[in-house]
Amino acid sequence: MNIYGAVVDNSTRCIHYHSEKDIIAIKFTCCERYYPCYKCHEEQADHSIQRWPQEQFDEYAILCGNCHTEMTIRQYMSTTNCPQCHAIFNERCAMHYPIYFEQSANED
Ligand SMILES: [Zn+2]
Ligand SMILES: [Zn+2]
Ligand SMILES: [Zn+2]
Repeated sequence: MNIYGAVVDNSTRCIHYHSEKDIIAIKFTCCERYYPCYKCHEEQADHSIQRWPQEQFDEYAILCGNCHTEMTIRQYMSTTNCPQCHAIFNERCAMHYPIYFEQSANED
């Protein structure tokens, strides 16, 4: 699995987000590449981010950097730790969902 961006370790931490819990990478639908965060994508991709549409939330687009298992966007959004290895994810990532994932109309 190739992870693009300014990755600093084997658990997909990057120069922007590298706390204990920052262990996921996100596949961007615009380029089908995994990056640890949107800033990595911003710096290295030659295009702007395209958000995942809701009808594709069952795509495998989240990678746990701890066990390197992929999960779907829907799985990721409904959990606070990895379904496979139970590593805890950074709950503050939820603040950034609107950058990566299309929001439903009544949440906007
Ligand atoms: Zn892209
Ligand atoms: Zn980054
Ligand atoms: Zn895991």
